[in-house]
Amino acid sequence: MKRYLVQTFGCQMNVHDSRRIEEVLEAAGWQATDESTLADLVLFNTCSVREKAEHKLRSAVGWLRPLKDERPGLVIAIAGCVAQQEGEQLLRDIPYVDLVLGPDNIPELPALVEAIRDGAPPIARTVFDLETPQFLHAHPRSDARRESSAFVTVMKGCDERCSFCIVPTTRGPERYRSADDIVSEVRALAQGGVHEVTLLGQTVNSWYEPTPGESAAPLELREKRRTASHFAGLLRRIAAEVPEVLRLRYTSPHPRHITPALIAAHAELAILPAHVHLPVQSGSDRVLKRMLRRYTAAEYLARARALQSARAGLTLSTDIIVGFPGETEEDFLETLALVRDVGFVAAFGFKYSPRPQTAALALGDDVPEDTKDDRLARLFALVEVQQRAHLASLVGTRSTVLVEGPSRDGGGRFAGRSERHEIVHVEPPAGVDPTGTLVTVEILAAFKHSLLGRMDGGVPIPDAPRTPKPRVHLGVLGGEGSES
Ligand code: SF4
Repeated sequence: MKRYLVQTFGCQMNVHDSRRIEEVLEAAGWQATDESTLADLVLFNTCSVREKAEHKLRSAVGWLRPLKDERPGLVIAIAGCVAQQEGEQLLRDIPYVDLVLGPDNIPELPALVEAIRDGAPPIARTVFDLETPQFLHAHPRSDARRESSAFVTVMKGCDERCSFCIVPTTRGPERYRSADDIVSEVRALAQGGVHEVTLLGQTVNSWYEPTPGESAAPLELREKRRTASHFAGLLRRIAAEVPEVLRLRYTSPHPRHITPALIAAHAELAILPAHVHLPVQSGSDRVLKRMLRRYTAAEYLARARALQSARAGLTLSTDIIVGFPGETEEDFLETLALVRDVGFVAAFGFKYSPRPQTAALALGDDVPEDTKDDRLARLFALVEVQQRAHLASLVGTRSTVLVEGPSRDGGGRFAGRSERHEIVHVEPPAGVDPTGTLVTVEILAAFKHSLLGRMDGGVPIPDAPRTPKPRVHLGVLGGEGSES
């Protein structure tokens, strides 16, 4: 039996890709293991968005060196964004790596590994599928790892070119998947027991129905189509055609593509969450311009307000970079002001780090490290105050929770996500396992990053009601930061 181990670094896109990697390997007769000493293939699925993630990868690969010396037949592979960015250079830098694989080349993985096991020299395969984009289907799990939530990719790549971001280089230009294909995958997942679907894309809300030869269309025409975004129509179609899906999330939207149609969809579709993660990156117009974000703080705030008005209690979280080249104390204070004005209930904060092949490299890296640390700490302190206030405001209210499984803290509790994405620990009646069901709970207590609720009604999923409109404004927690 051939065994593989996949280790994932980075965002939800990478988590999703890792699942597809596992499926491709298992279809070719491989079996998963958690032990590197038992593995015939160890694959690192990598992220290069932050310098830290790249360092973590290099250190993790280093740990395998002794194992490779002991068992030269072990295949070591690096996939994902670092693989795409570095290509053959990685094989030169880390000579005991056998395979470097780009995100678009996942279907070729089993054949490439077999070639290496048969004695082929190290291989770097990092070619974008520009002409005929492939989207690997997510399959519902039927084993013990069966899940009630799943990701579905609707587009890949990015045409935005924010000056700090390496994603357009590592993921290529935007390519879209047809609505028919997306709906059919969502339907298959729902039939396999999935009740919450998250639509995934680097700028997910720029989605539009692709036409044949899309990638050859002039850039101006593509930009026009993206700006017109058909994304709200896609959400409506899934809601209408796959009623078994109880929650439909999406990540990560770009503020530029929060259209009136999308805002209206939030007002009308109960299936949509009462939460949006909307990366802002900075609250200073001067910095936003240098980041090439193509919106102002006032425009962002107007769209945030429109979303909040569309649905009572809708919460927002965001991504923020501190210490971008040239960011002054005044710029940073404008970011804090925007955090207060929007009322974010969570934020993923990052210190700027120069990335190769990005426009911001030309701007230098002039904010001292201790200033970045200080700004990040002040940002987190503010967000924590807002988050605590929101969580505390929930005590005594009711919420609906999709239960994901036993809580990590043990004690007979289960954990799931509310309609706004907070982690809620649930105390079910004795002997009841509510995993995979939508339950209503009374919120009894607020912790630092989660809530405790008492279950007062477990509803088997097929009869579960649609997520009701929330009556209160809640916090949102958990997950990874994203790009967009
Ligand atoms: S930050 Fe997001 S929108 Fe900007 S280039 Fe990167 S992936 Fe694209």
